[in-house]
Amino acid sequence: MSRSVSLVATAGFCFALCACATQAPHSGLVISDVTVVSPERAAPLEHAYVRILDGRIAQLSERPLRGEAQIDGTGRYLTPGLIDSHVHLGAIPGMLPNQEHSHPDVSRAAREQIPRSYLYFGFTTLVDLNSTPAAIARWKSHDPVPDTYFCGAAALIDGYPMVDAPKPERYEAYPYLLVEPQAGAFLPPGVEAAEHAPQTVVARMKSDGAICVKTFFERGLGDRHDLPVPQPETIRTLVRAAHAAGLPVLMHANSAEAQTFGLDTGADVLAHGLWSTTEQVATGELTPAMKSILDRVVQENTGWQPTMQVMYGLNDLFSPGFLSDPRLARTLPRSLIEWYGSREGQWFHDGAESVTKTDPAALPALMAQRQRVSAATGYLAQRGARLLFGSDTPSAPIYTNPPGLNGRLEMNNWIAAGVSEKKLFHALTIDNARMLHLDAKIGTVEPGKTANLLLLRDNPLRSVEAYDTIETVFLRGRPIPRAELSADNASGASASTFPASGETADNPGFLIVEGSNPRG
Ligand SMILES: [Zn+2]
Repeated sequence: MSRSVSLVATAGFCFALCACATQAPHSGLVISDVTVVSPERAAPLEHAYVRILDGRIAQLSERPLRGEAQIDGTGRYLTPGLIDSHVHLGAIPGMLPNQEHSHPDVSRAAREQIPRSYLYFGFTTLVDLNSTPAAIARWKSHDPVPDTYFCGAAALIDGYPMVDAPKPERYEAYPYLLVEPQAGAFLPPGVEAAEHAPQTVVARMKSDGAICVKTFFERGLGDRHDLPVPQPETIRTLVRAAHAAGLPVLMHANSAEAQTFGLDTGADVLAHGLWSTTEQVATGELTPAMKSILDRVVQENTGWQPTMQVMYGLNDLFSPGFLSDPRLARTLPRSLIEWYGSREGQWFHDGAESVTKTDPAALPALMAQRQRVSAATGYLAQRGARLLFGSDTPSAPIYTNPPGLNGRLEMNNWIAAGVSEKKLFHALTIDNARMLHLDAKIGTVEPGKTANLLLLRDNPLRSVEAYDTIETVFLRGRPIPRAELSADNASGASASTFPASGETADNPGFLIVEGSNPRG
């Protein structure tokens, strides 16, 4: 008896020794002779060797390492996988729930491809800003699928975006809805006010596994201008409860009034750029009042997600060339793109939903909003604000916010607004990781972190087009050739080249109706 115990103890001791020594033998996968580009480094580390073991970065060395498998990184760049901290994974962009129901083959193919599309464009971590444990579990049943986290949406019971969901479904879609005391008289059966106080809602999110809180200040989109907005004290209580639980608070806020409210109530992140205004401002210029809000964003170090693709995506609905862009064919299945072009897929022309109808009269206002959010982003970048990368995919039920590609286009918007390649890279990696309290796991190429990595032919600190040269996506240590993630990978290896030959930054493929700035 004692003998067998001592054998077990010896075996355990040996195992511990072997585990300490894993760096010596030829274990794991080694990326050799690669240039590591990681946000904590003042300069890229050339001729580096990176060992991946058990889904993690096990070793980073300037001396040659050997592994069971080897990937030659000569002339290549290794970066952290990208983080998109603002997506919505519940819907297929451009498809309404009833349409999805009546086209099961189209929607099945789309849902299988969408996780791969995010990976194709380098996004290995996503945050759904309005989800539930059940929805996230469904999403994670795909393989491969990016690492995905969620915020609970603390939306006012009759406020935005709850009003977009029919009753009583809205109370299931928004289990973390907020009830303010004065609204008590109008509660539907089954909704108890005490269960929807800010502290209770945050506690429920936390125990459900949310890593953040999303809340909203929106008086109205499109033709609606009368939505209820929360009381400041409600949101201050929500923020205090969230911080006590270790959760950052992101606030949907895209107007001067909303961003002021977010700053006044202590939100950690304004989850949109500043583009709406109640002042009659016909141009995209920043007014002194807007600049003073942006100055506060800098002073208070509030996170700020420009989400410029919201405006560009709405604009692209007017573009007949959008559906034949070759990049879309790599992003979504052909059956879905064909459906988008069908009469049913063009439903938004009917104007049933004011946010998405394509009324040409809306174009000048859209253009002013694009200019304003771009100017605001550039203003903040110049002053060292904490810009955070989020694409808001899709921002509305529109097909012009395609998964992954929408984020890639958002990167171009940042550069066009005057943000440096370095600041963009930090926003896509460590700055998002820190905001989400995930920086111990992801955001840099350092030993101990999850091996979510990208191998690229060009350096993203030199040019945003480097993100089009991804060759391999490493997901929890598993190398996936980019071509395998393309929606058209059946048609050959050309999927790994982006942009395709003939498609240049000067010829973005997307028609922009008013001939405004090229987006690259
Ligand atoms: Zn959003």
